Amino acid sequence: MPLPTYPLYLNGQFVLGTDQYPVLNPSTAQPFAQMSAMERGQIAQAISAAHEAFVGWRSFTSKARSEALLRVASELDKRRDECARLITFENGKPLSQSHGELSMALDHLRWFAEEAKRAEGRSIPHWVDSKRHWVVRVPIGVVGAIAPWNFPLMLAVRKVAPALAAGNTVLLKPARQTSLSAVLFAECVQEAGLPKGVFQLVQGAAREVGAEFLSNPLLRKISFTGSTETGQLLIRGAAETVKPLALELGGAAPVLVFADADIAQAVEGVLAAKFRNSGQSCIAANRIFVERPVYEDFLQRFIERAGELKTGDGFEPEVQIGPLIDAATMARAVAQIQDARQKGARLLLGGGRIDRPGYFLEPTVLADVPDHALCASEEIFAPVAAFTPFDGEEEVIRKANSTRYGLAAYAFTRDLSRTFRLMENLECGILGINDGIPTATQAPFGGCKQSGWGRELGSEGLDAFLETRHVSIGIQGGGS
Ligand code: ADP
Repeated sequence: MPLPTYPLYLNGQFVLGTDQYPVLNPSTAQPFAQMSAMERGQIAQAISAAHEAFVGWRSFTSKARSEALLRVASELDKRRDECARLITFENGKPLSQSHGELSMALDHLRWFAEEAKRAEGRSIPHWVDSKRHWVVRVPIGVVGAIAPWNFPLMLAVRKVAPALAAGNTVLLKPARQTSLSAVLFAECVQEAGLPKGVFQLVQGAAREVGAEFLSNPLLRKISFTGSTETGQLLIRGAAETVKPLALELGGAAPVLVFADADIAQAVEGVLAAKFRNSGQSCIAANRIFVERPVYEDFLQRFIERAGELKTGDGFEPEVQIGPLIDAATMARAVAQIQDARQKGARLLLGGGRIDRPGYFLEPTVLADVPDHALCASEEIFAPVAAFTPFDGEEEVIRKANSTRYGLAAYAFTRDLSRTFRLMENLECGILGINDGIPTATQAPFGGCKQSGWGRELGSEGLDAFLETRHVSIGIQGGGS
């Protein structure tokens, strides 16, 4: 039987692309569908259509845009089960986690539907009688949103919802591995009755899409989530046209477990921060520092709990860890494990590929990981927990800050003064204190250093998609 082919969504129409490619299920490494792809010239046409749609969309009242986003949310909610299953097929994550992703995406849509009504400006007191000063916030224009495969729906919505709320039109380019949930999202947009061209789904060779987004003068901003390396490519390209970029890049989150922590709570927190989404998250725990007096006890308890985690196809009941996304991600994780062991780390759990089809890695625990091991500074992006003991707060803060990344950090402690010192001294955009899952729709998300530029979510989430315009008005007869 031929595989179903999923379409693009261009200017209000679902169309098959000039090209198709197979989409693999990472639990079987077999294709289960095909996705459409387009050529660069068609991307340029889509940008023109988005530019035409912009004039109409930006003149919608903020309340009308808000209601449109709420309708998209309600369409998506109706198709919750279908969408969660699609995410598990294309990404591999356990079905319960796909449902979690869907709930979060719905939260994002509803949050930005409300924020649409709050893109407020201000008036500035005048210094001369004959002038008045207003600051208005206006949409930017056509936005290119580039999304990754690890949370395919949620991270796409994190861009699309605020961009539309602010009155921009959007082209979404999902990751090649995980475009199908984006097709379902496009169906919800159509069902919700958004005008044609306001939201479009494009797909093609990533470099070509990127090149068109960067060079086309009608596309005014790129919002990207992905690797730091691809982010750097976009920055280089943006230099040519001074294209504004919002970037959510890699992370290598340090975890600091102090001896004064509630150890049982810390074990559960680190498990969540490490193994959720099979470790394939930019805020996943990367290097886990545990204060020496509780180090061995913590490891014992952690191994026990990690050993209970069920790995398997995301559709199997009670599975908590799914496959890695592809062979390259598997090869990188295996190389990092070997490297750490060669450099003196102790392997306490797992360590190898599971002998079955698909890309399954055993939940792995490494202890005594030295500073010069690759996994101490590189993003791991796999269910590999790398532990190192530490002897004092100052030392561990220095080590935690010694990476090029600055996205998330985690600490477990019951000391209030220490909590404030950590808030002030850890270099990160998101800090979980006694919390392994710190992301919240209503709070800003993003990083410093090489983890990116700007913030998504929260009341800051709209900022990336609004221009600030000062209007100076000369008037007659002023004087009050
Ligand atoms: P990963 O290594 O996790 O797949 P990438 O940064 O390669 O992360 O991918 C994130 C997103 O960026 C995906 O949608 C991918 O197709 C896209 N992408 C990859 N290379 C480029 C590029 N040169 N220009 C624009 N987008 C790109």
